[in-house]
This record gives sequence, structure tokens and C-alpha cells, in this order.
Amino acid sequence: MSEPKKTVKVSINGQELQVEEGLPLIEAAAQIGVDIPRFCYHPHLSVAGNCRMCAVEVDKARGLPISCATPCTEGLVARTETEAVKKHRASVMEFLLVNHPIDCPICDQAGECWLQMYYMQHDLRDSRLGVDKVHYDKRVEIGPRVLLDQERCVECTRCIRFCDEVPKTGELRMANRGDRNFITTFPGVPLDNPYSVNTADICPVGALTSRDFRFKARVWFLKEAPTICPGCAQGCNVEVDYGWHDIVTDYNGKAYRLRPRVNNEVNQAWMCDFGRTEYHRVNDDRIEQAMVSGAPKSLATAIADAKAALDAAGRVVIIGSLEDTLEEMHLLKRLGAEQWGGATVLCSPDRPDGFADDYLIRADKHPNRRGAEWLEMLAASTSVAAALVGAQAVLIHRVDLLALDADGAIRRALDTIPVRVVVAANETATSRLATHLLPGVSFIEKDGHWVNCDGRVQRVRKGKELRLKAGTADDLTILAGLGNGSLPTRMADAFASLALVLPELAGLSPESITEVGLRPVRPAEVTER
Ligand code: SF4
Ligand code: SF4
Repeated sequence: MSEPKKTVKVSINGQELQVEEGLPLIEAAAQIGVDIPRFCYHPHLSVAGNCRMCAVEVDKARGLPISCATPCTEGLVARTETEAVKKHRASVMEFLLVNHPIDCPICDQAGECWLQMYYMQHDLRDSRLGVDKVHYDKRVEIGPRVLLDQERCVECTRCIRFCDEVPKTGELRMANRGDRNFITTFPGVPLDNPYSVNTADICPVGALTSRDFRFKARVWFLKEAPTICPGCAQGCNVEVDYGWHDIVTDYNGKAYRLRPRVNNEVNQAWMCDFGRTEYHRVNDDRIEQAMVSGAPKSLATAIADAKAALDAAGRVVIIGSLEDTLEEMHLLKRLGAEQWGGATVLCSPDRPDGFADDYLIRADKHPNRRGAEWLEMLAASTSVAAALVGAQAVLIHRVDLLALDADGAIRRALDTIPVRVVVAANETATSRLATHLLPGVSFIEKDGHWVNCDGRVQRVRKGKELRLKAGTADDLTILAGLGNGSLPTRMADAFASLALVLPELAGLSPESITEVGLRPVRPAEVTER
């Protein structure tokens, strides 16, 4: 067992607190809500101490020590808002702005730029500069997914340290010295590691920007919701930025980007570049019109028609996806048992294994395979084809069965089934075969839980102000509509129903699963001890 960490008593702005010995003063201040400004400090990177913005007064120390590199010791007394500190911050800002182009109106970082924010908080003066600024290249294609504006850089070196310390690819360096320095790559070595867009996230200004997000939306028209990346079994914690505005309604209902959300147990502060592209399917190829036998119907009519057809069929097969939430999988199982007694219920993969590394990226490109295992629903695509043979009706929930149908066996089996009810958010080869097509929602429009590859249950969350597309409905509502009236439509009720039968969730509720998820002790693990 590791020794408990020693704690020390410190005083910040007259407030005493007990913290871990050696904790950076900037982090201790954060614990009591004191936000010390910083450009170069990042809690998940090494300390560089080059921007000097976080300097504060510390008793018995010479000058103004930087709080990112000042470890907490017993009796340390610090003040963060004295006249000397304020004057120092204004001076740092003035130096940074000497050569900065201040092209905020055309800068993609406007609205989330630390230089803008700190200028308003700590400087707010006219420039005293009477000479031309140093100019650099404003559009350097340093990599396939990141663009560099060299003259906006404030030389914090966060991007350099990220590439050195996280993917350990070291593509970026600072060239030249003094006010002639600039960020660049080694000749012939682009910024092209699988985590490269994190540099744009941590760049405090508009020097590094994501080529995918650039100029797509002004950030003040976006809202964020904490959720989980659906790109692989790791389940990186993310924020989804989606459009919502009363006046500028063009943005509404669209997803604009995924950004990493800190979870030290899963993804620290990072995510991969592949996962970032997952938001596109919220906007593209969406199904928004319910159809029955090729004719448009209202969603309520289509659900009623589908239910009648499924109820009348002799043998029903139900196939869900490995992106279904635990709650959706549970409702599929209940439909199979309670509505069409004895129906075969499976969950099938629909993405091939892909690139993996020894950090975050998993070969399994499904976010909830572990959940399907827990519910004993996991099927191989070969067993899907076998299960379909002889069925009179099939309910396909979200999964694109034809995506992994290498030998055509699934397609041949589907062609013989007269009732094919498909609940889907996006158009796929499988959705085009539906006799009854019911438009569901995407991963940012629903509430529920996935289980990542390490057995961590994590919350998938709908954006609060996100409006569902007209003609679509939450999948739980659609699935409950296919039942006999006893199935829950609210996520919390579905979870409660599931917790009664799934030992891993026994005694848990959605409220007991925190923002960083929860790794329940499986009954098998208890027995093994
Ligand atoms: S490009 Fe951005 S992250 Fe990199 S050193 Fe410049 S300001 Fe810092
Ligand atoms: S590692 Fe997996 S879960 Fe994490 S961002 Fe990439 S695709 Fe998404």
C-alpha cells in the first residue's frame, strides 16, 4: 500500500488551507477558487515557467515567484492580488501584445482566447508602441489537421511539450530567438501524430487551429454538453459543442466539434484525432422521415404499423448495436421476452477492428461492447446470419448489419424476411432495406450509459438545449412504443429496471455514477478475492 501523502498548511490571500506537500501553488489556489492567470502552465504537461503570467507574492521569497513552479511547503504565505502582482501581469500582457497582430475579428479563437480574456482582466490599455510589428506567416499548413498562424503565437511552448510528452513524436520546435522566434516543424516532418489536434485545444490563442472546426462557427453561438466519444472502446470523456441560439437559428441542432474532457482514469486531458470526427454523423445522412413500405408516414403511425407487423409475426429476431446504451439493450431484451416471447436478441458489431496504440486508441471501434457482454447479448456477425434464417420479422436497432457482411449471408437472410423494422439515426445500406423505417437519435441526442473496455460505466448525455430533429424521437420512446405499454421511456426508469437484473449495476442509480464514471466491482471479482 502506498504511504498517505504528507499535507502542509498554506495561506493564500489570507485564507488558510491544508494541501498535499509539493503541490504547485497555482493548483492550491484553484482549490479555494483563486484562478491565477497563466499561458504556459498546463496541469497535464511539464512545467516550463516561461510566460511569467502566474507570478504572485510569496513571503520570504525574492521578487515575484511563478506559482506554477512554486511547490507548497509548510507555512507558505502567498498573495495573488496585490498592486505589485497586478502591475506585473499588465507588463507581461504589454510585452505579449507588442508583436501580436490583434486580428480578433478574423481569428477563429475569438471568444475562447486567453489573450483576449486576460487583456480585459489585467491590462485594458492602449498600445504605447510606435513602430511596426514583426510579421510572420499567417497560414502555415503544419499538418493535415492543424493550421498555424505564426504571428499569433505567444511562445508558451505548450504545443511543443505536448508533442514531446504525450504522443512523444516531438514534431514542433521554436526557431530563432527573442522577438524573431516562431513555432515550426522540422523540415519534411509534418505535425501528423494521432493526437495532433490536442495542440489546437491547448494553444491559448489562435495560433494553432483545427482545420476541421476552423471558421465553422463562432463559439458564442455554441453550447457544450459532457458526454463520451463513440469512436472506440476506450470511451474518452469529451465535451460536444452544439449549436443553439434564439436568433441565429441556423446553428441549432448541429454538432460542431468534440473536445476532450478531463478524466484522469480514462483519457487524462486528451483525445485522438479520429475520435474527433465522430460528430459529423450527427449532421450528415440523417434519417428524418419515417417510412412504411416506401411511403412517408408520421412517426407515430409508422411505430404503430411496425408494432402490428412484429406482433403478427411468428418468429422475431432483434439485433442491436454495440453503440446502444445499456438502457436500450435492456429494452431490446425486454421486448424480446415480454412482447415477442422467445425472440432471439443479439447485439452485433458493425465496424471492423482498426488502428490501435498503447495509449488511448483501441482496435475495437465500438463504445459499448463490454455492456453487450455484461448483458450476454454479444454476437459475431456469422452468428447473426444464422439467427436470421427462418425469421418472419426482424427489429434492427441502429446497427448497420451489412457493413460487415463479407460473404453476403446476412443480406441473403434479410431478403427472405418479410418484416424488417429498422430504428436508425443515419442512412446506411441496412436502413435502405427497411420495410418500416423509424428515425432515432444520434449519440449526442440521448441519455444513457456505456461501459468502456476497462469496465467503467460512463454517462452518455444529451445537450440540455439541443433540439431533436423534426420527425425523430429518442430511441427509448420508439422502443417503448413497440411494446405493450409497460416499457419505460425515461432513461432513469430504464436504468432502474436494468439494475434489478444486472448484478454489475445492483444498488446503483444514474446519480451514483459521477462525471468521471464508475467501475463497479463485478460479482466475479468479489468471489475471486
Ligand atoms: S503555437 Fe500556441 S501552444 Fe504553441 S507555443 Fe505558440 S501560443 Fe503556445
Ligand atoms: S481513443 Fe477512442 S474513445 Fe478516445 S477519442 Fe479516440 S476514438 Fe474516441
